[in-house]
Amino acid sequence: YTGKTGSQLLTEKIRKIKVDDYKSIPVVVQENASVYDAICSMFLEDVGTLFVVNERAHLVGVLSRKDLLRAALGKQNLESIPVTIIMTRMPNITVCSKDDLLIEVANQLIEKQIDALPIVKEVEDGIEVIGRITKTNITRSLVDLAKDEII
Ligand code: ADP
Repeated sequence: YTGKTGSQLLTEKIRKIKVDDYKSIPVVVQENASVYDAICSMFLEDVGTLFVVNERAHLVGVLSRKDLLRAALGKQNLESIPVTIIMTRMPNITVCSKDDLLIEVANQLIEKQIDALPIVKEVEDGIEVIGRITKTNITRSLVDLAKDEII
């Protein structure tokens, strides 16, 4: 018998969950894509956040639903607006790695008031997107904790 309280055991369980255990597949668009292309991708791929990559597949930006809505409010032709002028760009992107704690990512989502983080790995002269973690992934972990399915 360890003498640990139920709440201490739950805290320990939570602090064992890694980003890698709950990640989703990232949806990316190329940096030469238009706002119109990005809206189509977001709708067809059924995601709320898109990651923008350059020709070397390095992360250069993030696009949220509201970024695209804001661009669509203007009266311009959406096919003529490049995503690069409306995206949030590096180095202002909050990222995580697959070995980070899920609870630390949850804290970042709250602090920065954002819905998703790209999971990245460093490569020569840039970073590559290898996954995506969203509020939905965090919610799934909470449901699993309540089912007592995490050992
Ligand atoms: P929405 O804008 O649809 O409410 P978010 O709350 O995720 O969705 O995004 C809010 C703003 O933060 C947007 O301008 C978006 O580009 C930016 N953003 C989203 N995710 C990130 C991130 N991981 N790092 C930095 N900025 C982000």
